[in-house]
Amino acid sequence: MQYYDNSIFQKLPELVSYFKTGILDDNKNIGHCILFWGADIQSQCALALEIARLLNCKESGEENCDCLNCRWVREQTHPAVKIYTRLDYKEVPESPSDDESGSGGKKNINVAQARGIISELAVTSDYHRVYIFCDRDEDGNLLPLNKINFPEVTSNALLKTFEEPPQNTTFVFLTNDKSDVISTVVSRAQSFFVPSANSNIQDSDLVENFMNNYWSIERNSVLEFENDLLQLVDENGIVEVFEQMQNYMFTVMKSNFDNKVLFHRLLRDIEYVEVAKRQATLTPPMNDATICANLAFKMILE
Ligand SMILES: [Zn+2]
Repeated sequence: MQYYDNSIFQKLPELVSYFKTGILDDNKNIGHCILFWGADIQSQCALALEIARLLNCKESGEENCDCLNCRWVREQTHPAVKIYTRLDYKEVPESPSDDESGSGGKKNINVAQARGIISELAVTSDYHRVYIFCDRDEDGNLLPLNKINFPEVTSNALLKTFEEPPQNTTFVFLTNDKSDVISTVVSRAQSFFVPSANSNIQDSDLVENFMNNYWSIERNSVLEFENDLLQLVDENGIVEVFEQMQNYMFTVMKSNFDNKVLFHRLLRDIEYVEVAKRQATLTPPMNDATICANLAFKMILE
């Protein structure tokens, strides 16, 4: 199955550029534990592989770089870049009771797998190791992590490693929602909402006036912000407004990589809007006014 995607830069330019800038920085300025969340696991994996390529490239990380490391990552044969799922593990048949379903299909990334990772990391590597944790089906289609396929007992076995990994090691977790991953892992990871690459709504014209410089709105104007938001929602539909707000924030991010404070504020607010979007699409949905009030308070007051 092909998981590397040559067009990931076109699909997620903000996030690829963000990581590229961090990786090419002299201090390799990116976290050891990265959590991607959102509906599009395929794009999350492609982004993780692109990060692995940038971390291992011996040249300057150009998109068309043809160095051995870049080629290996594209071909998914790099010895230090691994996708870990419950199915990618050759079981040593010693403990038949070790959380097997009995049908030959493992239902989770188990403790034996965790121990395998720990002993592998005890040996130093010339490469930058990138371990991508997710799930897949028998056909190779990628699926999100959850508390069943990545259970607490496994994450506990790896917790120390996640906290203080050996040099040149990066872990990436792929999931639909942060609440699907054990909180001790989430708290150790830097999290990023990854938008679906195939959503073709890129407009933000409905919200441009409303969002313009919203990050400098004073705290005492929060009610005004909330009212403007609710009015937009009443006129245009809540999901449409939230998607346009996210589009707007991604566009601003694109031109503000150097402004770390603003960049992280936008990253955070995109997550807040995503949470609000989910509240709006629950059955039964939450009340629009409540959702907008919560969102406005989080964006302006937190
Ligand atoms: Zn290269």
